[in-house]
Amino acid sequence: MTNNIYFIANWKMFGSTSLLNSLNKLINLSKLKKYKNSKIIYFPPFTLIKDFIKKFNKSKISVGAQNCHHVQDYGSFTGSISPKMLKDLGCKYVILGHSENRNDGESDLDVNKKIISALNKNLKIVFCIGETLKEKRKKLTHSVFKKQINRGLKGVKNYRNVLVAYEPVWSIGTGVIPKSKELEINVSKIRKLLSKRTKYKLPILYGGSVSSKNINSLKNISGINGFLVGSASQNSKKFIDIIKKTIN
Ligand code: PEP
Repeated sequence: MTNNIYFIANWKMFGSTSLLNSLNKLINLSKLKKYKNSKIIYFPPFTLIKDFIKKFNKSKISVGAQNCHHVQDYGSFTGSISPKMLKDLGCKYVILGHSENRNDGESDLDVNKKIISALNKNLKIVFCIGETLKEKRKKLTHSVFKKQINRGLKGVKNYRNVLVAYEPVWSIGTGVIPKSKELEINVSKIRKLLSKRTKYKLPILYGGSVSSKNINSLKNISGINGFLVGSASQNSKKFIDIIKKTIN
C-alpha cells in the first residue's frame, strides 16, 4: 500500500495568473518534513499550466492537465491537446473520465482511449469514476463501478501510473458528501474490482464537496489515499486547511 496521501486541486475552468502569488504559503508548507508523504498536484486550466510549472519549479508540487485528446502525438483535432503536448509542457498527470466531461458526452470507450494514450506517453492518470444520483437511487452504484472500471481500464498493462478517484456525481459541487459507512463500502468495492485487474495497490482518492469543514470525518474513512478537491482548492487558504487537518 502506498503511504502517500494525495491532495489534488482541480481548478476546472477558473483561475488567472493573478492568483499565482496566493500559492506561496502552500509551496512553503510542501517543503516541511511533516508533509513529506503528501503529494500535492495542481490541475489548472490548460492556459495556466506553464505558469504553474514555473511557479512550482523548486517545490515538490506537481502539475497536471484536466483532460487530453485520445491521439497521442499530433493530428488535425482543432482545439485539442495531446498527451505528448502535455508531457512536453512538463505535466506529470492528467485527469481522465471526470463526470463533467462524461456529462458532455464522453463515453467509457473515449475515456479508455485517452487512458491508453496518456499512459503510453508516461503521464500518470487520475481516472475518475462514480455514480449519478439516479443510479444511486436505483441501487446501481456497484454495477456502475464495474462497468466504468472494466471499460475504462481495458487493455491497461502497467498500473503503476494509475490513480483512481471515486467521485459520486451527486456530491460534486453540491456540498453533500456520502455517509461514512456508504463511502467505506463503496471504496472497498472499488478496491476489490481493481484487485481483480492488478496486484498493485492503486491509490484511491475521494472527490466530491471536500472542504475544510468535512475533512475531519472524511480523513477517517479507511481505504482512502487522498482527496480530489474542486472548488475548495481554488482558495489556497481552504486547501491548506484541508491538507493540515488531514495530516495532523
Ligand atoms: C471535482 O472537481 O471533481 C470536485 C470534486 O469538485 P468539488 O470539490 O467542487 O465538489
